[in-house]
Amino acid sequence: MTKISADTVEDFMDKANAKFGGSNLGETDAKPSFKYGSFKDGKVLKLEISCPIDLDYAEMGSGKPDDEGKKAIAAVADIAKAHELSHKAGYEKAFKDFDAKKTAKDIMDKTFKNKGEADKAIHQAFSELKKALLDACLALHKKEGIVEVTKQANGSYKIVQKPAGATGCS
Ligand SMILES: [Zn+2]
Repeated sequence: MTKISADTVEDFMDKANAKFGGSNLGETDAKPSFKYGSFKDGKVLKLEISCPIDLDYAEMGSGKPDDEGKKAIAAVADIAKAHELSHKAGYEKAFKDFDAKKTAKDIMDKTFKNKGEADKAIHQAFSELKKALLDACLALHKKEGIVEVTKQANGSYKIVQKPAGATGCS
């Protein structure tokens, strides 16, 4: 988690955006990995599929916000955390549904004509997993992902979260 020092909620968000890019207040990366051993007699001898997930989000650091600013920063930080945790849950579900064990077993059970054919099958499975992970991100961004903060006449902040749409997923 990245602590961000800011005196106002606007400053907090600007610094978080600068750190995470675009209008992001955090970042969750799914890193699918296919490790495979040698190819022998038409067989892929070893195939390990994993998908570690890295997660980071903006947290309140030091700084001297006023009371309303402090409340607003805490609220924005809560939204950022919840959003990235939802990304993580979405990626984990996509990876579980992908069924890495079965995919690996199916490929290892097959007899391929040559190494090129085996590579093709492995790349195809990898692409399917990448697509499932991207779909999970897009599904979440259909509902949320953009935080907007507006200062009210009474000094408090109105905070709303809007859909990010088809952006912010890589
Ligand atoms: Zn997001």
